[in-house]
Amino acid sequence: MKRLLVDMDDVLADATGQFLNFYEKEFGVRISREALNHKDELEGFPDNHEALRSFVFRKDFFRTMAVNENSQEVMRRLNERYEVFIVSSAMEFPNSLSEKFEWLNEHFPFLHWKQFVFCGHKSVVHGDFMIDDLPHNLEAFKGEKLLFSAPHNLQFNHFKRVNDWKEVERMFLG
Ligand SMILES: [Mg+2]
Repeated sequence: MKRLLVDMDDVLADATGQFLNFYEKEFGVRISREALNHKDELEGFPDNHEALRSFVFRKDFFRTMAVNENSQEVMRRLNERYEVFIVSSAMEFPNSLSEKFEWLNEHFPFLHWKQFVFCGHKSVVHGDFMIDDLPHNLEAFKGEKLLFSAPHNLQFNHFKRVNDWKEVERMFLG
């Protein structure tokens, strides 16, 4: 079986949406997702960057993220055809490890905990394919790299891109 590595934030989970929600609660302003297009992470928000960075330290930030559309069904099928690992950075923000673990158990119960790799730098992992929204995670990877579209990565075109989970489905299960 080929090994497929899948990221969480802005791949399985709507991290961008969570920033928009927290920002609205904090400042009473709803920023549109489109306003974030083509800008580095957090750069699309009007100033307040210190506050934005504080959101990831808050309880439930990672635990209550929405699941990205179609990711559950497609992951369930991928899991039968590939050796799937969820590879997620979880060392920088103290709450994120336990919250991500609970989130995966709730939304992806068909995955075994042995398939979860919570790590610091992703250069330590190896596989045939990696799906991630951050170019710097893909840079260090030796297998086939797939950039999962998110507002903050639309300006990059040096990686093969997948726009959504339907496209992942066509590519890997079509
Ligand atoms: Mg990510």
